Amino acid sequence: MAAISRRDFLKRSVASGVTGGLILSGAGKWSAEAATGPVGTLIDLTKCDGCKQEKAPKCVSACREVNQDRFPEPVNDIHDYWPQKKHEDWSGKRHLIDRLTPYNWTYVQEVEVEHNGQIHQLFIQRRCMHCDNPPCAKLCPFGVQEKTPEGPVRIDPDGCFGGAKCRDVCPWHIPQRQAGVGIYLKIAPKLVGGGVMYKCDLCYERVRAGQVPACVETCPRQAIEFGGKEEMKGVAYERAKAVGGYVYGDQENGGTSTFYVSPVPFEKINQALAKKELKPGMPVGVENFLDTAGGLTRGVLLAPIAGAFAAGLAAYKTMKGSE
Ligand code: SF4
Ligand code: SF4
Ligand code: SF4
Repeated sequence: MAAISRRDFLKRSVASGVTGGLILSGAGKWSAEAATGPVGTLIDLTKCDGCKQEKAPKCVSACREVNQDRFPEPVNDIHDYWPQKKHEDWSGKRHLIDRLTPYNWTYVQEVEVEHNGQIHQLFIQRRCMHCDNPPCAKLCPFGVQEKTPEGPVRIDPDGCFGGAKCRDVCPWHIPQRQAGVGIYLKIAPKLVGGGVMYKCDLCYERVRAGQVPACVETCPRQAIEFGGKEEMKGVAYERAKAVGGYVYGDQENGGTSTFYVSPVPFEKINQALAKKELKPGMPVGVENFLDTAGGLTRGVLLAPIAGAFAAGLAAYKTMKGSE
């Protein structure tokens, strides 16, 4: 198994202020270089072939396998909740691997893009970008999403009401809702919320345990790399320079922990995705909602409510744990 030793990871962890410059790629090759800060990933579109010879992309299968115990198991009788006239139920479509769902936290888009007289066939693994200043977490009314010091952005499924604010303010609308599961069922199933939101958490527990994310480990072409965020960024720009290509994820949404390298401009990729109606798109330089006047105000107003709810939830969990 590809693994950073636990001792190395902890030694280098942000808990001590340093994430030691781990550069890891696919099948577990890694080298340690000096670096600081949280972890990140690089997704190299010049390497990914979409695993066309497989039944499903290996990164997608690996993600489903390692996370299957965390997928929602909704109640049988799911009700609508005020003021909605419908609910989102993906439990009958668990098999879908051609889009993001609560049961499929990553998928691979395929587009053809013309550039400089050449047609490029591109395969793009998509999932949460793990933004530096994530509006999904900052604007969660219940304070149950967080940007961890290690880099991944996580949702606490035990406290999420499924209101989908995170999806609204995410430029890529990444989190996916499943109804009929979560804390709202215990509190006011017909009045608030609507389920729980799900998305990639960059294999947070694996990373904490000294392993690389499952999709990174399994990729046969080492198209996804994992390491210190700043190192990943540096490698991304070096590689883009070497192939005369482009980087996505550094400027978008105010900065992220995911860097795509492509041989063609992302504006063209975004157009190709839109033409095929594939979501999410790749809008270049997309703005962070928190940087807008409305976003800033909402963040300031929500902070105390979210803080109070998070504190209440923590107390509830402690109480349940001691029963
Ligand atoms: S990222 Fe790797 S595992 Fe995923 S589709 Fe591309 S080559 Fe396959
Ligand atoms: S990509 Fe969207 S869901 Fe993921 S951290 Fe950024 S804003 Fe949040
Ligand atoms: S990092 Fe983990 S949770 Fe995220 S897409 Fe890869 S395997 Fe899935």
